Amino acid sequence: MDDDIPYLLLTPGPLTTSRTVRSAMLRDYCTWDQDYNELVTRIRERLVSLVTRSLDVTSVLMQGSGTFCVEATLGSVVPPDGKVLIANNGAYGARMVKIAERLRIDHVELAQPEIEPTNIDRVRSLLAEDPAITHVALVHCETTTGMLNPAKEVGRLAREHGKVFILDAMSSFGGIPYTMEDFEVDYLVSSANKCIQGVPGFGFVLARHECLAATEGYARSLSLDLYDQWRDMEDHHGKWRFTSPTHTVRAFSQALDELDAEGGVEARHLRYQENHRVLVEGMRGLGFATLLPDEQQAPIITAFHYLDAPEFTFQGLYDQLKRRRFVIYPGKVSQAATFRIGNIGHVFPDDMRLLVESCREALDELNISPVLPG
Ligand SMILES: *Cc1c(COP(=O)(O)O)cnc(C)c1O
Repeated sequence: MDDDIPYLLLTPGPLTTSRTVRSAMLRDYCTWDQDYNELVTRIRERLVSLVTRSLDVTSVLMQGSGTFCVEATLGSVVPPDGKVLIANNGAYGARMVKIAERLRIDHVELAQPEIEPTNIDRVRSLLAEDPAITHVALVHCETTTGMLNPAKEVGRLAREHGKVFILDAMSSFGGIPYTMEDFEVDYLVSSANKCIQGVPGFGFVLARHECLAATEGYARSLSLDLYDQWRDMEDHHGKWRFTSPTHTVRAFSQALDELDAEGGVEARHLRYQENHRVLVEGMRGLGFATLLPDEQQAPIITAFHYLDAPEFTFQGLYDQLKRRRFVIYPGKVSQAATFRIGNIGHVFPDDMRLLVESCREALDELNISPVLPG
């Protein structure tokens, strides 16, 4: 752990970044300047090369957090007479439903329990029943639970039925290897402060060129107009329409360099998997049970049930761990008392070992001696 940070963020973003990523921000840039616009253009190209081998894919960067990009996408690519099928099995699926409601986009919600993966049969029958549906939206890794949804199967169904497929890949992009052709995605949305390990401030959309090019005039917002943002970046070689998050962009460029240096997305995935394995093994040893079965779990964030002990509170554990330089995350599941620990960011298996050790100390301090199974 770097000495200049007070604690490791074991959260799903913003997350712990490297000192070199943070240092990259110690320079001011003019948003008009050619150096800066070249940096932006290079980032756009690198994002495309991370996610496709052969498709004609383009990218748009957009100010704001990840939600702004999801909203920009839903609000800009669904035509006025379009209709979106939104698969919801967690807080981020629910947020897409809310966006559709707020923007008055016609939609049908596939509402599912948070602890079950998106049901392919229900997606298939909804698509068969309702020919008015034009777009399908899915959250890849549902960060609420750490659930990995079946993007490949949903993408195939969308393609078979001739629908446009939008994937909220916020917490999986850069941390799990796949391409847009693997999932037959038309729009993939992610942000700077997740698995690429940049700092917060903007998100991005990777889009099939022919899809995005056909969406002029659809946007329901000026600042979140994806098409206009894209045209400006294309026509003016990396220029953003409005003030761009220059420091964040420079940190992101450094983060992409560090992703390459680590060995790319495959290598990063292996590290996250190892973080996750060490964490789960250690926590189970202390009596904690995971919310999800291992088969449904992405190596991004892990949800644990509270301990069944009267002295256990999330705040108690949180405070003890923070004192030991770890910040964990509250739960977001409505049907169970859980907390979450992120596996992503500039965090390594040894950090996870130390975290488990710190948890053991915390439980001692709180006089909690869980009854271990078996
Ligand atoms: C982080 C995240 C978002 C975006 O959340 P913000 O708070 O707006 O950054 C959207 N979807 C998923 C699945 C996420 O993990």
